Amino acid sequence: MAEPAVPNPASRGGAFDSHHPPSPDLIDKCVHCGFCLSTCPTYALWGEEMDSPRGRIYLMKLGLKEDGQVQLDPTFVNHMDNCLGCMACLTACPSGVQYDKLIEATRAQIERNYPRPIADRMLRRMLFEFFPRPERLRWLLGPMRIYQRSGLQSLARRSGLLKLLPASLGAMEALLPSLRRNTSSGILPERIEAQGQRRLRVGMLLGCVQSIFFPEVNAATARVLAAEGCEVVIPKDQCCCGALMIHTGEEKEALDYARRTIDAFERAQVDALVINAAGCGSNMKDYGYLLREDTKYAERAKAFSAKCRDISEILVQLEPRAARHPILLKVAYHDSCHLQHAQAVRTQPRAVLGKIPELQILEPAEAALCCGSAGIYNLVRPGPAKELGERKVRSVLATNPDIVASGNPGCLLQLRAGLSASGSGLAVVHTVELVDASIRGLPAQSLRAR
Ligand code: SF4
Ligand code: SF4
Repeated sequence: MAEPAVPNPASRGGAFDSHHPPSPDLIDKCVHCGFCLSTCPTYALWGEEMDSPRGRIYLMKLGLKEDGQVQLDPTFVNHMDNCLGCMACLTACPSGVQYDKLIEATRAQIERNYPRPIADRMLRRMLFEFFPRPERLRWLLGPMRIYQRSGLQSLARRSGLLKLLPASLGAMEALLPSLRRNTSSGILPERIEAQGQRRLRVGMLLGCVQSIFFPEVNAATARVLAAEGCEVVIPKDQCCCGALMIHTGEEKEALDYARRTIDAFERAQVDALVINAAGCGSNMKDYGYLLREDTKYAERAKAFSAKCRDISEILVQLEPRAARHPILLKVAYHDSCHLQHAQAVRTQPRAVLGKIPELQILEPAEAALCCGSAGIYNLVRPGPAKELGERKVRSVLATNPDIVASGNPGCLLQLRAGLSASGSGLAVVHTVELVDASIRGLPAQSLRAR
């Protein structure tokens, strides 16, 4: 689809160009009641109105005015950049304000029209060149392994040398997943047969970060689906779903990825699409909206989104067929924001875990509050992300768990880094890894050692 020509915002008076500015109708739904403030992580950190959902919506409203009172200047952009996109305000808002649509539109405006400082541009570009491209992420595995296995990592961490790095690079280092495990375990065939009578033919999204840093999660997902009677199709030509790009305002690239993802899974002719990364799932469920003006894709995108399911949703829908063996552990379940807020998936992961005999589910306090991961937030805003991570770790540890579980690779990385920095050796696993271990009858100790 040809890209629309958009006039420069300066020629219109307001802060935004004419290509999908934040919708005045959606903005007007905000009645300024403030119910969202207590669940907003940036408001919780700083108590600053302009770093709350209500304040950001107000800034957007001023940006729409043609008197030029508010422009895309560093102050405006900073308040928008501070937002984690966690969507806790969606859950909290009694007036149904669609903050997700507002912030996405605003971020796209910023990326089109605001000249970011060079260091910021370079960091973002580097992240966009790697994160949505598993083949490039794979290049990093070799050097990362050498760094970790040679003892360089422990030395660098002990020596305090890492404190000399720019904050974003320091955060990246702290988040590096341990590569002790064999990553080839996650190389999956294009089709896996259902065990027993087939109940569904499902497509499986591998995810960019998931496929490279958590291949064991994809392997577990495929095993569980097959054990539950699903024929699993994993198209080789699938690409990034575009979640990272849409959440950071890179609209054009995001929509290109969305179209390619639809193409790949349409060819696979599946009944449902299973996703085990919450950020990807919330984005794919939104394709119908994102591609609403694309004459070739609008209808297909709607049909595609209707088929998308988080792994926990599909497991609840199917009801267990494979026997579950006991796992005698206390698991602290951490709700990923893109599951609990963006997809309203809260009961399903608990229901899935609840089917595992002897597994005790613990509920950390402040469940609605983001752990600070939020896509690339912990890399571009490492300070507040670290504070939120530490806060989340305190809540998790207060439940005295044996293990921690969550449904999103970003949360797994953030929690592992936070727990490790706190001196805790607790393992953090994906929810589906517990289900897989239960079906296979693995000993609890094997999970605690992950
Ligand atoms: S998305 Fe999260 S950080 Fe952003 S305004 Fe809403 S609650 Fe606050
Ligand atoms: S809860 Fe909703 S209506 Fe109330 S201030 Fe927040 S966004 Fe506005």
